[in-house]
Amino acid sequence: MAETTTVIRAADWVVAWDEEAGGHRYLKGADVVFRGGEILFVGRGHGGDAEVEIDGRGRMVMPGLVNIHCHPASEPGNRGILEDTGTPALGQSGLYEYMPAFRLPAEAADAATRVAFAEMLKSGVTCVADLSGARPGWAETLAATGIRAVLAPMYRSAAWHTADGHSVGYTWDEEAGRRGLETALATVDAARAHSSGRLGGMLAPSQIDTCTPELLHASLAAARERGIPLQLHAAQSVVEFNEMVRRHGMTPIAWLDHIGLLGPGVIIGHGIFLNDHPWLHYPHADDFARLAASGAAIAHCPVNFVRRGIGLNTLGRYVEAGIAVGLGTDTFPHNMIDEMRTSCHSARMVAGDLRACSTTDAFDAATLGGARAMGRDDIGRLSPGCKADLVLVDLAHPAMRPVRDPIRSLIHSASSRAVRDVYVDGRLVVRDGAPLAIDLEAALDTVAEAQAEALARVPERDWAGRGAEEMSPLVYPVGEA
Ligand SMILES: [Zn+2]
Repeated sequence: MAETTTVIRAADWVVAWDEEAGGHRYLKGADVVFRGGEILFVGRGHGGDAEVEIDGRGRMVMPGLVNIHCHPASEPGNRGILEDTGTPALGQSGLYEYMPAFRLPAEAADAATRVAFAEMLKSGVTCVADLSGARPGWAETLAATGIRAVLAPMYRSAAWHTADGHSVGYTWDEEAGRRGLETALATVDAARAHSSGRLGGMLAPSQIDTCTPELLHASLAAARERGIPLQLHAAQSVVEFNEMVRRHGMTPIAWLDHIGLLGPGVIIGHGIFLNDHPWLHYPHADDFARLAASGAAIAHCPVNFVRRGIGLNTLGRYVEAGIAVGLGTDTFPHNMIDEMRTSCHSARMVAGDLRACSTTDAFDAATLGGARAMGRDDIGRLSPGCKADLVLVDLAHPAMRPVRDPIRSLIHSASSRAVRDVYVDGRLVVRDGAPLAIDLEAALDTVAEAQAEALARVPERDWAGRGAEEMSPLVYPVGEA
């Protein structure tokens, strides 16, 4: 099939890559031209012919957003349940009591993923790293949505549990970790060879405190051999910080460095609890300097943490120190524009300083930072030779106007409501705000049924045998009519 050339003509605003300056620049009244899956031209006055002409007036064209951390197979099932939950005695985290108790049945994984991907696409995400357990049909489900996806199968040598709501124990099964890595390698290798050309792979040993150093070393060696990134959760809770200090006398970041895991090609989700985090008051380390010197990247997912009063200290500070920070939608909703806005607000609150994160920092993280974290320079920017992953924003949407600064309007006022059309690999995947290849209603029906099943099983999963209504009461009790 001959490749089609498309020109978006005379867009009011374009967020273009400026090679010389090494950053995004606004262009006004500019054209964006792409053929097949590749961008040919970004600039004013393109003279060449194109089979498809799109009127860019009233539109901003921006690079597709890069979501480097999410759990779409389960998170959509937590809507209405986990917004106000966390365990005060476990650093306010939701990981140890709530995550195990509210678990969507595995059969709903594909439907949940479609719900999550529909939300992402509608918020302008064109590339996503999906951290989930490997399952049959996973690659096909992702490919069918039209998005560019990186399969990041999770595996670990231990599971955590609490038997009292204030301490965390670990059940070790090192063989399960090794088998998990084997499965992950087969999954990742198959994804990278997928006929869509839109799938990639990443290794994801789950968490620093649930993986043996041997599993982490084997994972890093396999990732380096393939030239793919490795991502693991670390410095994500006070419990984990204290556990690593208890086990090794080192902070999570110092221990990763000590065992050779901190370096280029490694993404830390979420890298919050460094020794200088205001919640820790732990002066006996130099995590921030160590992290900055290492070349490791951070996956920053502010919404999930801000819900529990936890903030990164701070996005602006990390960026200033040269750390590659990408954004992710760890929780629901999978709205990257909300994550950008929250990254600004959370940084400013943590620091008590409005300069702690700018809108530029947030948009750069959602595009360039994520691409850099994943070792790519062909996504997250609009430049000739890059992937034709781009988003058209409706500047006439009331929440965008007045359009003095379209990125600010988008992030701070309009959010995903103003996203109109999304292209991945040069193909239209969202038209007029609706994903074209996802039956969202059907997927939501399946997730709703699965959530009801999960809620019914809470008492058998909770250490104290509590029910869903006790662990997560409704906002208001249901009254008698
Ligand atoms: Zn996560």
